[in-house]
Amino acid sequence: MCKTLPAISINGTLYSRENANVSVFDHGFLYGDGVFEGIRIYGGKIFRADRHVTRLFRSAKVLDLPIGWTREEIVEEIRKTAREWAAINGVDVRNNDDPLYVRVVVSRGDGDLGLDPRKCPKPNVVVIVDRIKLYAKEQYENGLALVTTAIRRNLPDTLPPQVKSLNYLSNVLAKLDANRENAAEAIFFNTQGYVAEATADNLFIVSNGEVVTPPISDGALPGITREAVLELAAELSIPRREWHITMPDLFCADECFLTGTAARVVPVTAINARTIGNGRPGPITHRLMEAFVDLTCRDGVCIYDK
Ligand code: PMP
Repeated sequence: MCKTLPAISINGTLYSRENANVSVFDHGFLYGDGVFEGIRIYGGKIFRADRHVTRLFRSAKVLDLPIGWTREEIVEEIRKTAREWAAINGVDVRNNDDPLYVRVVVSRGDGDLGLDPRKCPKPNVVVIVDRIKLYAKEQYENGLALVTTAIRRNLPDTLPPQVKSLNYLSNVLAKLDANRENAAEAIFFNTQGYVAEATADNLFIVSNGEVVTPPISDGALPGITREAVLELAAELSIPRREWHITMPDLFCADECFLTGTAARVVPVTAINARTIGNGRPGPITHRLMEAFVDLTCRDGVCIYDK
């Protein structure tokens, strides 16, 4: 894959990577005070733009962060920045099966060195479009090896896991655990001992033909890919359930996979050195991976004018 130039919009103006700057007084930088979204553009179409923007606004509402843009304006900015990416890289994204990745960041904006958000009159709205590749082709074919982490998913009465905020430090701590053990990802449990999710993906297991993923209340982000996979399971008449997953459920699952915007649907074949199922990506995982690829071809808001 050749290196591409990112397209970056800050508060509606396009910049090159060298010139794209926000202030060191931005409370996103000083305190992690802000929210974000990761979105894919498949074949020139923004996948589930509506749901991503809804989640962005919900996260912002919890932080009482007035974005100052309408939902439609955010989608337009993504479309504009993606067209800029295609132009500067000379790529026709409609004919390209390497999907783009969009990062939307809304930070509290410039303030002073104190924590008080009232000192930040105007949020910064940033859209970055580029490519991202989390895993190699072989990892999709053979599955990932994961570890569990002793770091617990954020408690709902601290920073609710449903809020996609700029504060990902427990995820970073868990990712460091994964790195130390040469694992692709780490799995969080919550304080009740149930699986919550991975550091940047939702987790599913397959047991006795049934697809199971933790309920949001167990500490999972309401993933857009998770939701799509649950819908696809229903379409394919695969039994599915949002239910607690314990450590034995995890280790003894027939299949396991992760879902996320950047990772898409990726099989898991080992956890803490236990083989999952027969150590190969399972049949239900394969069906859902294929169905998800089909869905990404069907769904989406085109970045070009209709
Ligand atoms: N959990 C966490 C903690 C995440 O950051 C993400 C997004 N990368 C997900 C799950 C997956 O959500 P989505 O499918 O909406 O990308």
